[in-house]
Amino acid sequence: MASFSCINGHEVDLISIGDNEWECPECGEIYGYEDPDDEDSEESLSVWDAADIYASNGFDEDYQFGYTHEELMKALND
Ligand SMILES: [Zn+2]
Repeated sequence: MASFSCINGHEVDLISIGDNEWECPECGEIYGYEDPDDEDSEESLSVWDAADIYASNGFDEDYQFGYTHEELMKALND
């Protein structure tokens, strides 16, 4: 890939470390690439995180984050 300007001033080729994260070999700074569907980030909550929020909001359907009641209850009980 083309060289990248690290925030610490290094002109480097970043090293892929998985999970859409890249590391500067000079200083170890980690860069993550956001999902382009960032606006939908609420729906990318894990079912477990969503279940916690759902429960703490009194099982309000506004806090289901795209999951079903059954999925959230199952996650809470895992
Ligand atoms: Zn760097």
